This record gives sequence, C-alpha cells and structure tokens, in this order.
Amino acid sequence: ASSIELKGMRKRFGKDTVALDGVDLTIEAGEFFTLLGPSGCGKTTLLRILAGLEEPDDGSLLIGGTDITDIPPHRRSVNTVFQSYALFPHLSVRDNLAFGLRMRGESVAERERKVAEVAEFIHLGPLVERRVDQLSGGQRQRIALARALICEPDVLLLDEPLSALDAGLRGQLQVELQRIQKRLSMTFVFVTHDQDEAMVMSDRIAVLDGGIIQQVGTPSEVYEHPTNAFVARFMGHDNLFAIHGSQDDWVDTELGRLRLDMSEQRPDQDGWLLIRPETLELDVEIPADSNRLEGVVKERLYRGSRVEYRLDVNGQTLMAVASNLGQRLHGVGDRVTIGVCPEDLVRVA
Ligand code: ADP
Ligand code: MG
Repeated sequence: ASSIELKGMRKRFGKDTVALDGVDLTIEAGEFFTLLGPSGCGKTTLLRILAGLEEPDDGSLLIGGTDITDIPPHRRSVNTVFQSYALFPHLSVRDNLAFGLRMRGESVAERERKVAEVAEFIHLGPLVERRVDQLSGGQRQRIALARALICEPDVLLLDEPLSALDAGLRGQLQVELQRIQKRLSMTFVFVTHDQDEAMVMSDRIAVLDGGIIQQVGTPSEVYEHPTNAFVARFMGHDNLFAIHGSQDDWVDTELGRLRLDMSEQRPDQDGWLLIRPETLELDVEIPADSNRLEGVVKERLYRGSRVEYRLDVNGQTLMAVASNLGQRLHGVGDRVTIGVCPEDLVRVA
C-alpha cells in the first residue's frame, strides 16, 4: 500500500468550470478513503488526476512519497474501477480477469492460480467459463472489481462502482469490498455521492463541494461534528437552526433560547445549531440543567425499528426519532415536551 499526497491541486475545464479549486489532501497507506459529494463537485476529476488520465493545471501529486505528477498512467501503480464496467463482453470471465496478468507476462500457472483465488473471493467461482455478456449487471460489476484487484496495485481507485446496483447486492458488496481492502491492505480511494455508503465503508471521508474540500474526518467526526451547514445537510441532517446571538453557554435560535456545553464547541462555528433527531427525548422528566421545548406532532412516520416525528416548535420544523421499544406512540396533534441535552448540541459554521 502507498500513501497519497495532493498539494494545491487545481483543474479547470474551459473558462468557467472550476472542477478542483485548490485541493490539499493526505491519504494514509492502507486507508479506505472516500471522496463524498454531490454530482459535479469534482470527485471524478480528482480520481482521474490520481490515475494520470487528467492533467492538473496546478498542484502536485505524491504517491508513496514520490512525486508522480508527470508520470504517465501506465507507469503508476494505480488501478481504476469505473462505474461503467469496461469489460470485454465477448470474452469469458476467466479471460477478462487474466487480461492484465497476461499483459504483464505472468505464467499460465500463475494466472490460473490468481484467477481462481480472486473468482472465489467475489463468489463467482462457478461462472469463470461464462461469457461476460451472459451475466447480470451485478455480476459484471464484481468482475470489474476482481479484474482491478487481481493485479494488486498499491492504490485502487473506485468511481461509484456500486451505484448502478440494487440495494441488496449493493449492501453485500459494500461489506465484501471492505473486507477485501483490509485483507490486501491496499489504499482504496472510493468515490460516492451516497453518505450512507460513505459512512458504512470508510476509514475517513473527504466531503467535497464546488471543487473544494469542506471537511475531512472519520465517519463519526463528519456526521457528529460537521464543520459547516453544507456538510451537515449533505450528511442527512435536517435539524439546522440559525443562531441569532449567543452569550456564555446560551444561544438564541429560531427554536428559542438553548443552553450548550461550550467546552464541546469549536470557536469559529456560530452560524447554525445542529440537533440530532435521535438525541431528543419526548415526554420524559427533564433535568433542571437541560433544555425544554414545547411542540406539536405534525406528522408521524412509523419505520418499524424506530418512529420519526415531525414536530412544530415555535413555528419551526423539528425532527425527532424515537426507538420503537415498547414506548407509547405520540399521535398527530399531540402536544409534547422535548428534552434537549446541552451536550448533544453542536454549532456549525
Ligand atoms: P463529479 O464526479 O463529482 O460528479 P466531475 O469531476 O465529473 O464531478 O466534474 C466536475 C465539474 O467539471 C463539473 O462541472 C463537470 O461538468 C466538469 N467537467 C468534468 N469533466 C469535464 C470535461 N472533460 N470537459 C468539460 N467539463 C468537465
Ligand atoms: Mg463522477
């Protein structure tokens, strides 16, 4: 495995499109690292620069400590899996898998051994004689993954490799990919626009918007302590409320005045208050040093393992989630008291 270092990476297309606007990033050797962001934020461009398929306007790229900015793609120990499979449809699974090994001049015996091993790994052992055009989309995607893995590159780049698959297969491959990455201890740079996928798979995540890295952190850091409102919304948070003013431990928000644990907050983040729906407590006894809000249930979504409530508080919408463990359900129109623990509140820029 190799580390990756990007410094001041910039890329424009034409006059007006800034795909990357100065990206500085260090990815550790053996890390499962994810680039997460909406469509058009620059994820594929960044991956193509790593692969050497796109030339940056400015900036440098080091892999394994060596500057490879000017090294052509085929001389980088980097392999890429794209969203479209790029397989040879008329060839068998075996020949597709062995292709790269043959190009490298590996022996027939060695090729056979590696094909069998990797086919087993992705649960396609029985299908190695089949032609690729006789296989399903999910099977093809697994072959594309296997073909990239079989050459054991130092770095594997994966551009939304699972986004064309249905939910069941996708979940299965998420687990398998993670397992493969850890076993081979390769550096993976994985691209997705799906925050759940990013959280479940990654050691660390970089959230991108407009060609700029908004935040880098572990899944829990990015989810629980987003640095700004864009990251918070993108990670799926609905409960963001503008902060009008603050004094000592108190902030004035659209919901009302709330007490925070200031020792938990970062200093320059005072635009918004983030409340995680799972931290709210409905109709329980609220300790004196906690916050108490009054609300009305506007909507109830029964989700089986949990129940979601859309509450009206002070004319604002507040989402709450309760686990469905023998608790009394609140109905639409019910008045509820809402306990908001100061330690659970997070300020974001
Ligand atoms: P993502 O993969 O996050 O969806 P891309 O890296 O593909 O984003 O694109 C970033 C921006 O650069 C977008 O505005 C896109 O339209 C533009 N772009 C990407 N590739 C090209 C290209 N070859 N020519 C012109 N514009 C491009
Ligand atoms: Mg893309």
